[in-house]
Amino acid sequence: GEQMQDCIFCKIINGEIPSNQVYSDDELYAFRDVNPQAPVHILVVPRKHVERIVDFAEPDAALIGRMILAANKIAESEGSVEKGFRYVLNCNEYGGQMVFHVHLHLLGGRRMAWPPG
Ligand code: 5GP
Ligand code: ZN
Repeated sequence: GEQMQDCIFCKIINGEIPSNQVYSDDELYAFRDVNPQAPVHILVVPRKHVERIVDFAEPDAALIGRMILAANKIAESEGSVEKGFRYVLNCNEYGGQMVFHVHLHLLGGRRMAWPPG
């Protein structure tokens, strides 16, 4: 199907690599970042393997929307909404993308700097 052989996030989604799950549904999976950059650092990923945010196409519009809605629910359940939090989508080299399976970072639990590094 959509799974890519050497994609670590596909392996996390299918359970080959263990993860600390925080949310799961038919289309999305969310888990704690193994190297957290904030007290709350969660990755929200589509189960479908899409390499980069720019590889989403028109038929993915609803999925993109559901990523945000799921992240919003997680931010609320993590207690991050009242004080605030940050969503990050890294793309390619200058964006600092290391894993080429789309993921939305939810960062919370501390004040974020601006501009970002
Ligand atoms: P990127 O730089 O691609 O936007 O972010 C990739 C993120 O995935 C990094 O924050 C990194 O710590 C996280 N990550 C990489 N490998 C693993 C893993 O095996 N498990 C978990 N939970 N997070 C990972
Ligand atoms: Zn993948």
